[in-house]
Amino acid sequence: MVTRRIALGLVTLVFLLPAIGAEERPVITGYSPQAAATEWQWEQKFRAIPDPANLREYNRRLSAQPHHVGSPYDKANAEWILSQFKSWGWDAHIERFDVLFPTPKERVVELVAPSHFKATLQEPPVPGDPTSNQTSQQLPTYNAYSADGDVTAPLVYVNYGIPADYEKLDRLGISVKGAIVIARYGASWRGIKPKLAAEHGAIGCIIYSDPSDDGYRDGDVFPKGAWRPNEGVQRGSVMVMEVYPGDPLTPGVGATKDARRLALKDAKTIEKIPVLPISYGDAQPLLAALGGPVAPGAFRGGLPLTYHLGPGPAKVHLKVFSNWDIKPVYDVIARIPGAVYPDEWVIRGNHHDAWVNGSEDPVSGQSPLLEEARAMGEMMKQGWRPKRTIIYCAWDGEEEGLLGSTEWAEEHADDLKKHAVMYVNSDANGRGYLMAEGSHSLEKFVNGVAEDVQDPETQLSVAERLRLARIRRTNSAEERRELRSTRQFRIGALGSGSDYSAFIDHLGVATLNMGYGGEDGGGIYHSIYDDFYWYTHFSDTNFVYGRALSQTIGTAVLRMADAELLPFDFTNLADTVGRYVDEVKKLAATEREKTEELNREIREGVFTATIDPHQHTVPPAVKPEPPYLNFAPLENSLADLRRSAQGYSRLLEKLQGGGQQALEHASLQAVNETLMQSDRKLTQDAGLPGRPWYKNQVYAPGLYTGYGVKTLPGVREAIEQKQWQQAEEEIAIAARTLENEANLIDSATAQLEKAIQ
Ligand SMILES: [Zn+2]
Repeated sequence: MVTRRIALGLVTLVFLLPAIGAEERPVITGYSPQAAATEWQWEQKFRAIPDPANLREYNRRLSAQPHHVGSPYDKANAEWILSQFKSWGWDAHIERFDVLFPTPKERVVELVAPSHFKATLQEPPVPGDPTSNQTSQQLPTYNAYSADGDVTAPLVYVNYGIPADYEKLDRLGISVKGAIVIARYGASWRGIKPKLAAEHGAIGCIIYSDPSDDGYRDGDVFPKGAWRPNEGVQRGSVMVMEVYPGDPLTPGVGATKDARRLALKDAKTIEKIPVLPISYGDAQPLLAALGGPVAPGAFRGGLPLTYHLGPGPAKVHLKVFSNWDIKPVYDVIARIPGAVYPDEWVIRGNHHDAWVNGSEDPVSGQSPLLEEARAMGEMMKQGWRPKRTIIYCAWDGEEEGLLGSTEWAEEHADDLKKHAVMYVNSDANGRGYLMAEGSHSLEKFVNGVAEDVQDPETQLSVAERLRLARIRRTNSAEERRELRSTRQFRIGALGSGSDYSAFIDHLGVATLNMGYGGEDGGGIYHSIYDDFYWYTHFSDTNFVYGRALSQTIGTAVLRMADAELLPFDFTNLADTVGRYVDEVKKLAATEREKTEELNREIREGVFTATIDPHQHTVPPAVKPEPPYLNFAPLENSLADLRRSAQGYSRLLEKLQGGGQQALEHASLQAVNETLMQSDRKLTQDAGLPGRPWYKNQVYAPGLYTGYGVKTLPGVREAIEQKQWQQAEEEIAIAARTLENEANLIDSATAQLEKAIQ
C-alpha cells in the first residue's frame, strides 16, 4: 500500500513542476491514461479561471446588508445567486421550505442584588466600519430556540458548562438547582450549555464570551485589531441538534407547505430553560458580584477579577420571549446534467444566510462556490460536459440549525440514497492551511486533489504545506514518521456544525468538508463586526485563499464527476475504524480502572483524611464497578473489513501496475453503483439510541459535545454513560455495520475484477 502511495505521490508531484512538457501523462486514480490526459487538461483550465477580484465583488455584494432568515436581503441574495447560476448556463431554481424560526421579542439580563446593573445587550456601531451601523436591520443578540421565560435567581458560575465542570462543582458541594448559571463560550457546542444546566436543575442560562477564549488576550480588539471587542456578542442557535437538526416541527421530512407539523410544545429540539448570550463587558459586573468559593484554576478566565463560583450573593433577573414564527428559507439548487451517468450525483454546498452581514461566515465560503460555478460555466462554453450530474446548492437557514440543507436532504432522501456519489461542503474560509474532514473512504482521493492545488503563499502544493505543518506541530514521533513515509495526511472525522450533517449522519453519503485557516485569527464570529470591512482588513484580504478553495473543491468535484471508476478506497477507512475500535476498548478499560481506583481510595480513607475543613469539599460516593465488555464481535468484523479493503486495494494496485489501461473499455456501471452505496452501508435504519435521525454508526456529533465528533458513537456513548448492557448491544450493531461494509467491498471487488478481465 505504502509503496504505491509513494509512487503515486511522486508522479503527481512531478506534474506540479512548472516545466512539464505537453505530452505528460498524469496518473489519476480511477482514470485510464487517455481519460486522465483529458481530465488533466480540463482541470488545469478550471484551476486557472477563479479570480480573486470576482470573489471580492461577490463578498461585497452578499454581505452588504444583514441577511438572516426571513429578512429581505436574505431573499434578495438567493435571487441574485439564482440569476448568477443561470447566467453561467446552469439549470437552477429556488426550493422553498417553511420552518420555525424564533426571533427575540423581549430580552433582559439584570443584576438585582447585591447591587443593580442592567446588561446593554447591544453591539455599538464602529466608526469607519460602514455596515456596522445598519442597526434597524440587525437581529438583536440572542440564542435562537431558547425557551420563553422570566426568572430571577441566584447566579452560579459553571465555567464552560460541560459534564466535567458539573463533576467538579459536585465535588465542591455547589449545586445549580433553582439557580441561573453563567457559562463561558467554548469547549462544546453552545446548545449543550443550557441543556446540561437544565438537567442539573438550573432555571436559566447566560452564555458569555470570555476574553481569555475570545477577546483581548489574543490580540488588539476590533477595530484596531481582529479580536472581539468589549461589547461583541456571539449570537447563535441553541437548538438541540444532537437529537435532530433542521426544522424542529418536521423531524425526518421536508418542511414543505403542507408537511405535517408537530405542535410547538411537542418539538424535542427547543431548550427547556431561557438562555441569552452576552458580551464580556456585560458579564464582568455579574461575575464580580459573585461570592462563594474561589473558582478552581481551570475555571478562571481573562477578566481582571477573582472568579468566584457563587451561588449568590449575585441575584439575576433573566427574561427571554421570542416571536415563534414560521419563516421561509430559500435554497438555491443548480445543476449540470451528467452526459454519461446522469443518475450519479456529485453534490456541493455552502450556506448563504448569516446572523448579520456574515462576510466571513458564510460569504467567504459561498463566494468560492460561486466562482467554481462560473468556471464550470466557462468550460461548458468550451465544450466540456461532466460524465456525472453536478448539483450546486446555496443553502439558507444554516445558522439556526442547518435548516435549508436538512429540509432539502429530507425532502429528497429517497433520490439521494439512490443517486448521491459524494457531498462536498464548505463554510467560512480564511487564510492558511487546508483543513479537510470527512469520510475516510475519500481520504486518498482528497490527498490526491490537495497535491494538485498550489498554496498561494508558498507555491508548495497545499498537501505538502499541510504535511510539513503537521510535522512541525505534532509532539508524536510516530505521527512524524508516518507523515514522512506515507506522504499522506489523515483527515478528521465529521461531527456536526455545518450543512454536511444530513448527508453524512442521516443519509450515509460520502462527505468532505473543506476550508483554509490557521493564519487568520479573530473574534467577530456571529457578531455585527463579521463584515466586509473586518474581512478585508484582517482575514484573506486579497482573496487568494478564496481562490485556493475554489480550486480545491472544484478539482474534487470535477475529478469525482468525470472518473471512469469512482475513486473510493477502503484501506484508510478500515485503518481508521481500527483506531476507533482501539479507542473504545481503551475507554472501557480506563473507566474500569478509574472506578476501581476511586473506590479503593474511598475505602482507604483518602478523602476523609484530606478534606480541608475550610473548603467544604464533599467526598465522592462509591461507584458500581464496570463489567468487562466483549469486544470480540467488533474485532472479528473489523478483521473482515480489513481483509475486504485490502482485497479491493490489491485489485486497484494491479490496475495501476497496468497504467489503468484496463479501465478504458471496461463496463464499470455496476461497480460504480456499488461504490456509491459504500458509505450508505455505515448506517442503520433504527439510528442511534434515543436519536433515530442519526443513522451513521461510525460518525456522529456527541450527545454532550454537540459539534464534537463521537466515532463509533453507539458504543462510545454507552460506555461514557456507563450503560453496560447497552454497550454490549451497540457492539453487536457496530459489528453488523462493519460486516455490511465488508460485504459491499467484496461485491465491488468481484464486479471490478469481472469488468477489467
Ligand atoms: Zn457558517
